Amino acid sequence: MRRPPWLLSRHSWRVDLAKTEDARTLRGIGVSAGVAYAPALVLDLRFPDVVDRTISVDEIEGEVVRLREAVERVVDSLVTLQRRVEERAGEEESRIFEAQVFMARDPEFLATVEHLIRHNLLSAETAYEFKALEMRVAWSGSSSARLRERITDLTAVQLRMLRVLTGGEAVEFPITAPDEQVIVVAHELSPGLTVQFDRDHLAALVSEEGTRTSHAAILAHSLGIPAVMGVTGAISRIKTGTVLLVDGQSGTLVIDPTPSQLREASTQVTRRRKLAFELEAEIEEPCVSPDGHLVRLEANLDLPEEIDMAVRHGATGVGLLRTEFLVTGRTHLPSEEDQAAYFRRVATAFPNGVVTIRTFDLGGDKFPAAFDAPDEANPFLGWRSIRVCLDHPDLFRPQLRAVLRAADAGNVRLMLPLVTRIDEVTTTRALIAEESEALARAGIRAAESVTLGVMIETPAAVILADRFAECVDFFSVGTNDLTQYTLAVDRGNVQLAARFIPHGPAMIRQLRHVISVANQAGIPCSICGEMASEPLLAVLLVGLGYETLSVAPPSLLLLKRLLRQVPYAVAMQAAEEALAEDNADQILASLREHVAPFVDLRQIDPRGPLPGRGLRA
Ligand code: PEP
Ligand code: MG
Repeated sequence: MRRPPWLLSRHSWRVDLAKTEDARTLRGIGVSAGVAYAPALVLDLRFPDVVDRTISVDEIEGEVVRLREAVERVVDSLVTLQRRVEERAGEEESRIFEAQVFMARDPEFLATVEHLIRHNLLSAETAYEFKALEMRVAWSGSSSARLRERITDLTAVQLRMLRVLTGGEAVEFPITAPDEQVIVVAHELSPGLTVQFDRDHLAALVSEEGTRTSHAAILAHSLGIPAVMGVTGAISRIKTGTVLLVDGQSGTLVIDPTPSQLREASTQVTRRRKLAFELEAEIEEPCVSPDGHLVRLEANLDLPEEIDMAVRHGATGVGLLRTEFLVTGRTHLPSEEDQAAYFRRVATAFPNGVVTIRTFDLGGDKFPAAFDAPDEANPFLGWRSIRVCLDHPDLFRPQLRAVLRAADAGNVRLMLPLVTRIDEVTTTRALIAEESEALARAGIRAAESVTLGVMIETPAAVILADRFAECVDFFSVGTNDLTQYTLAVDRGNVQLAARFIPHGPAMIRQLRHVISVANQAGIPCSICGEMASEPLLAVLLVGLGYETLSVAPPSLLLLKRLLRQVPYAVAMQAAEEALAEDNADQILASLREHVAPFVDLRQIDPRGPLPGRGLRA
């Protein structure tokens, strides 16, 4: 990593020792572990000041032309951006801009702006601003989380338009200065914004909005970039160029850190980097405990960009292939061919392992712009996931066909999220059978059937685990949702972040129950929630009986090292004692005690993934 030397020499730091440490420390949610320090790049996405202006009748046509030209300039800039992202990150990610182009060209909206120019004699920017504001107010007043997600795209488009109409440039955020790394600070990191970052220049991410499950958090975590979200007041407190120290584990950020804080951070970074290099040397080693117990480490993949790292870090397969990115923020649903091609691509990357394709888990925190979902007061208790798929065969059937087609050549299996009822499985099986016959009739190469499993991520699924085990081929436990639904704690609520504890007594009893049921039924059962990425908790899970953990790619190597150091007998003992404890703190303390004789706890504390860059090609 290039940052520290140049940072010290080329940036004058405004270290003001008179400020109290508290005044300089902001707190949020640590969504991606790691420590970074670099100058801030504040993305101030405020709208330009538009001076209200009326025009004469003679000027009408000129203003209308100006409006149309602005639209074309904005569309051009979006298309250029789309191409750039496509080159760097692939076609799928770049599609995020399709929705924005669509919005920029929205004929109905532009007609209302033109109407204001012609009939109210307003300048193009005054008319546009007026209508844009009206639209944002209408959307933000809606309780629909889906519309709220689209507001970020809408705002991005309107911002570009107003900048162009007021004589500025369309907004671009490439971080392209050679050799420079920055910490991006934004109000909200929308998918459209994050996808633009040149990740080699990104030291860390900070945002006022957002939680562990937001797109940017998932991305930062999977790329090993430290990130803190939910930092209230960050934009007004931080100026571009000010040095920040970000700790993505504790969720803190220090403005103008003191020399001693920087020294300590530098030591941490060096230690983590050294560890990262040591771990790379162990890539080929099997994940076997000192007493001979084998654990399979698989990868959770959210985006195509992660495939590479998962392969290089020795994932034995894909325990969770999320497919929502094929839909969210897009204007069109993905075709069967596109999906089959993507599934084949992933399967080809793991010739010796199985790839677990999860059907669309839409709704809740993942909203497809391309899909007409209703407004809901409680989206996480609403029309989401398998419910949406079963109600919408037009969405579900092509995905099932794509999976059958990919299963013809690759080792893939299918997994249903958020099941609460047995008939969700039986109905899906019937649909698979129908689609298989249809494919055969049409002479399309496809597997006759596919291995089918369910995510155990609702208390209902835990309670019915024995019945589910009779009708599926495997389980995978989704601890993120299981924690949310068990503890009645919204996984996306910043205020409840400290209460979102996946290792409390209510959770681990369920985890033990599920693995026991699976073992009795003789079906495989893995874990794919974030909990498995936490080193200490991974030991607990192994002790509870889980033999396959599926985690974000940057977590793979550290977990392997840990599981190679802790004897299985110790993990089992730790799990038994954890089951007897009454609260989560005691459970953690007891785990630490068991693990401490075998592991350098500093390596896992701060825990979480190691710096991505040290491990990237
Ligand atoms: C989970 O709920 O634990 C899970 C892995 O799925 P997601 O985070 O995508 O809801
Ligand atoms: Mg889930």
